[in-house]
Amino acid sequence: MMTQFRSPSRLRLDGDALVSNWQLLARKSGKASCGAAVKANGYGTDAHGVVMRLAKAGCRDFFVATWGEALALGSLPKGTQLSVLHGVRKEDMAWATGSNARPTLNSVEQVLRWKPTGKPCDVMVDTGMNRLGISPEDVGAGLLGDLNIDTIMSHLASADQAVQQNEDQRAAFAALSGMTSARRMSLANSAGVFLGADFAFDLTRPGLALYGGVPCEAAQGMLRQVAFPEAQILQRASIKAGETVGYNATFTAKAPMEIATLNLGYADGYLRAFSGPDGAAGGTAEGGRMPVIGRVSMDLLAICVDDEPELVAGDWISLDYDLPAASALSGLSQYELLTNLGPRFDRVWT
Ligand SMILES: *Cc1c(COP(=O)(O)O)cnc(C)c1O
Repeated sequence: MMTQFRSPSRLRLDGDALVSNWQLLARKSGKASCGAAVKANGYGTDAHGVVMRLAKAGCRDFFVATWGEALALGSLPKGTQLSVLHGVRKEDMAWATGSNARPTLNSVEQVLRWKPTGKPCDVMVDTGMNRLGISPEDVGAGLLGDLNIDTIMSHLASADQAVQQNEDQRAAFAALSGMTSARRMSLANSAGVFLGADFAFDLTRPGLALYGGVPCEAAQGMLRQVAFPEAQILQRASIKAGETVGYNATFTAKAPMEIATLNLGYADGYLRAFSGPDGAAGGTAEGGRMPVIGRVSMDLLAICVDDEPELVAGDWISLDYDLPAASALSGLSQYELLTNLGPRFDRVWT
């Protein structure tokens, strides 16, 4: 029998927190169904584990970006549906027509490509983001006739801000009601769920908030952290006053101090932005007790363990990764902080 290799870094994933976040978003979605965006491996977590847990909690609609992501998910739980947001390229057709997942058609070209299959699809309409989607004018001109449409969607550009663009997009989207054969309409992402009942339509599509990201002010204090990066101590050392730590010696010990080197670095997504300014501490571990010192390396970083005499090599340390706080500290968006979490972590659901 093969013994399973254990990585010296792991991403602890809190399944109860994930489900509780989805349930909150489902309540906020009112009469609309609440789906789940699981693209980018469930925002860096574990898309398969997310789908299994949310399906059990009652989630029926899942979204990925590409057919590669749909394939990686494998077979889905009974009663659930998967939509592939980037639609269908010519080279996707063989996969797409043999799959139970639906493409979200984004362009005239994609609509014409899919129409002859007669198979179900979703359609993205661009109501002002100018990213992906067909125009409301093309809908009005009858482009979507003869398509077997499950859900017609649009995407909000600025849902995290209180700006007029939200209402403009909502109104443009609402005007499409009854103009197509679509069974459902869907507009809101995470922040959109907090814009009010008018934005929910029939189906919401949160991503970030499921994983504990706080998408807007109205969501503060409501969501639970899901992803907790943890790493093992590889080495513990005592250094003297005046000695420096790490690349370019950006940290100098003011007094004798105890440091521990962890198996974690920027190649795992714990970026150099957590090094903090030269000479000062950056990120922290274990609820603020242990500051990260010096520059974060590719595979390693150092923490101060002055107040932790019992810690030795092999012990596990949890890096503080509350998303709004980590975002404020590093200047990275909460989306980047999640999706940067790399493949070297074991992903462990608790
Ligand atoms: C990523 C994505 C979502 C989810 O957005 P969040 O801001 O993470 O909630 C919803 N819809 C579409 C089309 C997306 O691309």
